[in-house]
Amino acid sequence: MSIILVIGAGIAGHTAATFLKKELGKKHRVVVVSPSAYYQWIPSNIWVGVGRMKEDQVRFRLEGVYRRMGIEFHQARAVSIFPEGGNGHEKPFVQAVYTDPQRQGQETELEYDFLVNATGPKLNFEATEGLGPATGNSYSVCSSGHAKETWEALERIFEAAKNGERQRILVGTGHPTATCQGAAFEYALNVAFEAKRHQIEDKLDITWITNEYELGDFGMAGAFVRRSGYVIHTKEFTESILAEYGVKWIKRAGVYKVEPGVAHYELLDGTKSSIAFDFAMLLPAFAGVGLRAFDRQGADITPKLFAPSGFMKVDADYAPKAFEDYQIEDWPSTYQNPDYSNIFAIGIAFAPPHPISKPMFSPNGTAIYPSPPRTGMPAGVTGKITADNITEMIKQQRTDLRHKASMGKMGAACIVSAGYGFWNGQAATMTVNPIVPDWNKYPDFGRNVKYTIGEIGLAGHWVKLFLHYMFIHKAKGYPFWWLLPE
Ligand SMILES: Cc1cc2nc3c(=O)[nH]c(=O)nc-3n(C[C@H](O)[C@H](O)[C@H](O)COP(=O)(O)OP(=O)(O)OC[C@H]3O[C@@H](n4cnc5c(N)ncnc54)[C@H](O)[C@@H]3O)c2cc1C
Repeated sequence: MSIILVIGAGIAGHTAATFLKKELGKKHRVVVVSPSAYYQWIPSNIWVGVGRMKEDQVRFRLEGVYRRMGIEFHQARAVSIFPEGGNGHEKPFVQAVYTDPQRQGQETELEYDFLVNATGPKLNFEATEGLGPATGNSYSVCSSGHAKETWEALERIFEAAKNGERQRILVGTGHPTATCQGAAFEYALNVAFEAKRHQIEDKLDITWITNEYELGDFGMAGAFVRRSGYVIHTKEFTESILAEYGVKWIKRAGVYKVEPGVAHYELLDGTKSSIAFDFAMLLPAFAGVGLRAFDRQGADITPKLFAPSGFMKVDADYAPKAFEDYQIEDWPSTYQNPDYSNIFAIGIAFAPPHPISKPMFSPNGTAIYPSPPRTGMPAGVTGKITADNITEMIKQQRTDLRHKASMGKMGAACIVSAGYGFWNGQAATMTVNPIVPDWNKYPDFGRNVKYTIGEIGLAGHWVKLFLHYMFIHKAKGYPFWWLLPE
């Protein structure tokens, strides 16, 4: 009997755990460790953040689902990995601290034969002075709890606007190298859409602030997309949507400090400036969650397993090189740790080999450019292929990993909500193939424009809403869940 320990129950970890259990059955144990009692469908948080969904519509408790599926669940935070065993354990193990109310603060040591690290990002608000909901200076939609608070604050802004007071809204990236522009962008559009619905658009000044060199970069160096039969750049696509929604923008901006009602930023040309606001939703930088690793003797081997960013090293080429020398082959395809073949890191938890957008520095030496995007589809896909590979390692004693998914080869679809409403909703549907541009294979556009498209309309909203229900159906393990795509 093998024990597969999955740390993290987000899109990547939950996908891996559910497929592992389905494929391995009762003969093997699948154990999940995650600090939250809930699974949450993060992409719908933007709708919680504008009051169109309640928090409980985007999350559900994991315990019952895991009990029904035969997966063991520990509501706990993983702290350290001992990949060689030690401390009285023959097998490798993970140290974790319980977060569930009954055992809060108690430590546990969970042995494994295979470890899947799917801990997602640390929301690194501390990397920007004064940023984040804990400071009260800015809001976030990165978790359903954050999004709920964000809506409560935005509702007060809407009330003030309804009373005739002009309100300034700032949405975007809260750190010079933050990623997830797509999520913040959707939030800006949804705020503008709701303002119109509440007939207060002429009372709001909405500004989009971003670390992108050009709008539409999204951390993937932008894209040439097919739209209505023409090939256009995501810069034009994004600028035209913001203009249509009445949103102004500031680009090439690294927010370095947020104070009550004012954000300070440095531009790529080195100048510093500030913008005043009544409400700000600014996304933090991401980092690894701070796991540590120790060898059998207890010596700290964290740098062996983890990159300086805190994300775990996998089968990528991490050798430093010039931007021009980056290769598609640098990107990982099996997510297996190079030193410990029974450890995998999937979703946001793996360390990318390098940025996709060109690294840019101001004359003051400040890096101002987006980190690579970490979206849901690759998180789900890496969860699925890792479950398939581990299953074959266990059942067929295979050492070669047949299931592969490189961001340099796989496509991704992202539906950017631009307003909620069954009859008047809007969403921009974007597909890119591959995620990392491959200029050798596609010298004209870096990607296959046949499968790289951008369209905006009501149908996109229906698809986004359908996906919300479909992915929650799948995550709950309801009938035929495994047939639904990642
Ligand atoms: C507002 C918003 C909207 C988005 N919209 C889209 C979209 O429309 N389309 C899209 O493709 N992507 C979207 N994304 C990105 C998408 O949500 C992420 O790519 C995806 O959630 C990553 O999955 P993950 O499993 O790697 O990480 P997460 O979903 O963050 O899951 C990480 C899990 O690990 C747990 N964990 C954390 N620390 C520990 C620890 N120490 N021990 C154990 N467990 C731990 C967490 O509690 C969580 O369960 C959006 C993101 C945001 C913030």
